[in-house]
Amino acid sequence: MKEESDPEYKRLLLKLSGEVLAGSKRYGLDSSVIDRYSKILVSLSNSGRQIGVVVGAGNFVRGRAFPDMDRVTADQMGMTATLINALALMDSIKRSGGRSSVLSTIVINGSAETYSPVEANTLLNSGNIVIYAGGTGNAYLTTDTAAALRAVQTDCNILLKGTKVDGIYSADPKGDSTAERFDIIDYNEVLRLELNVMDAAAIAICRDNELPICIFDIRDPENIIKVLDNPSLGSLVKEV
Ligand code: UDP
Repeated sequence: MKEESDPEYKRLLLKLSGEVLAGSKRYGLDSSVIDRYSKILVSLSNSGRQIGVVVGAGNFVRGRAFPDMDRVTADQMGMTATLINALALMDSIKRSGGRSSVLSTIVINGSAETYSPVEANTLLNSGNIVIYAGGTGNAYLTTDTAAALRAVQTDCNILLKGTKVDGIYSADPKGDSTAERFDIIDYNEVLRLELNVMDAAAIAICRDNELPICIFDIRDPENIIKVLDNPSLGSLVKEV
């Protein structure tokens, strides 16, 4: 239940791509970078926010990168790789003084339990930072769709999707000086203009459940705190 003193976005879902966790290496894990994100998450948790995190695996495996393989098998490799990232993040959060659990579509006895919304809610209510691994558990999807699903299944108030730019643009701002930035944009406009900020499935899930999405520059971990106070630092996708 929302208390009078609760922050506007008390329960949030953060989508962290694998690439973010690799830092400048782009492949594998950079533990000093992960620690910087963990410290921010722990400080947000200590200030009363309830935090879920969906991790990707682009720093290890993306199914599409193995066109010679059976796609389902390649995607299962990708989903399995998200577990490595989830365990690394959980370990880092605990070393930073926070409480954290991994809930997964792929179970590792003793360190990654089966995902269920009921278990997730219990953990979130007791101040655990819940990391969701294994994506949706289904091939041909991505962790963006998993993020949208977990966010709506656990009644989050906002989905934060970190990227390498500070919001949504009409074209790539690096290559096109006429690119226009959207401060606020409707879900259907994102889909119509094929703006490619998240999977269409993820956008549609958020639209159908009126869950706002904030697309923001996550290269500086402090921005996670800043956009929660002021989402216009990123681009907000909502019903307009
Ligand atoms: N994946 C999948 N189903 C899911 C989530 C992920 O098959 O529900 C696989 C897919 O191969 C994907 C890989 O896991 O490429 C890693 O996820 P993603 O590409 O979303 O990672 P990110 O780019 O966010 O690091």
